[in-house]
Amino acid sequence: MIQSGESRELEKLFREKGARSILLVCGGSFRKQKLYGRILEAAEAAGAMLTEFSDFEPNPRYESVVKGVDVFLRKSCDFIVAAGGGSAMDVAKCIKLFWNLDRKENYLKQEAVENTTPILAVPTTAGTGSEATRFAVIYYEGNKQSVHHTSILPEYVILDPELLHSLPEYQRKATMLDALCHALESYWSVNATEESKSYAAEAIRQVFRYIDAYLDNEPAGNEGMLRASNTAGKAINFTQTTAGHAMCYKLTTLYGLAHGHAAALCVKVLWPYMAEHTADCIDPRGEAYFQKTLEELAQVMECGDVEASIHRYNDMLEKLSLKVPVMNHEGELDMLKRSVNPDRLKNHPVLLTEETLENLYRQIFRKD
Ligand code: NAD
Repeated sequence: MIQSGESRELEKLFREKGARSILLVCGGSFRKQKLYGRILEAAEAAGAMLTEFSDFEPNPRYESVVKGVDVFLRKSCDFIVAAGGGSAMDVAKCIKLFWNLDRKENYLKQEAVENTTPILAVPTTAGTGSEATRFAVIYYEGNKQSVHHTSILPEYVILDPELLHSLPEYQRKATMLDALCHALESYWSVNATEESKSYAAEAIRQVFRYIDAYLDNEPAGNEGMLRASNTAGKAINFTQTTAGHAMCYKLTTLYGLAHGHAAALCVKVLWPYMAEHTADCIDPRGEAYFQKTLEELAQVMECGDVEASIHRYNDMLEKLSLKVPVMNHEGELDMLKRSVNPDRLKNHPVLLTEETLENLYRQIFRKD
């Protein structure tokens, strides 16, 4: 349910849900936003205590979530506001999922026990769409953990484009690419349905419609891109992501790239490979279905054929002038290909062997 973010409406929500103690999980930048003041005002008017939790980092670690759970329990919280990019929202979602588990055991190893703590999600980047998904990504002992449970899909969402105004240029570009890759990967996923495809197609159209205004930080562009990332989130909530996201995680940690930037570099090499290897399709609906999916995707991109759609994507990427990572030594290729989660590759429509993954990573490093 989308909320307006007006103090009066927030106060009503806090009252209706009987909130007595609210945990606001947010990054430092959120405190400069007008909405931050409105949330404090609404909590006070509703007679609820509000505790802030910001002790986490981008691409958050499990240990940060544990600290958040401790605060949640110490303050007897009963409502969570998750305001920030994917990192803040994912920390908040994990706090909700973990707070009623056994504190003496590792939360990641325990079976989730559903609880009704409401989450109000407020994205401040137009990228992850985490406000619309049942997933949360955190890092444990340096490895990505994808936590998933239907109960962490936020019940309430505020989409306020003004929040995007302060985004630094690189974050602006990278987060938008994350949203676009979600939509593309969802469209060709083996789990795609008519419904998920319609969300994915809508998100792709929105990204291309609003990209210029968004990159110029115009209000209409920010609004359109926020909608696009939310719609793309709805698409991956059905399908999950595919090889683009499976391949990107190690690139972010090894070369310090933002998540969406890394995903976009992977999609850039995957898309032509898929178009040339439709015979290696592993989607049970078969090669003809997959071929048709790529052709439909070209139409969604307003292109005459598959090749033209790939060109349109590459042109867009080139205009963003993002850096290409430099490989330090050949051993990194081994690390990269071993980092790819084989389970996630099962969502990908074309078979990717270890050798293929190595070649694809090699292409990412090639400057052309
Ligand atoms: P982020 O949340 O990591 O934020 C990146 C940086 O931008 C931070 O320093 C943050 O404080 C700052 N920032 C955020 N909004 C800002 C604003 N409006 N103005 C100024 N600074 C701002 O970035 P992200 O790309 O939104 O999230 C990435 C995380 O989300 C990764 O951990 C990724 O794995 C995860 N993710 C989750 C899902 C999901 O469904 N749960 C999907 C994709 C990605």
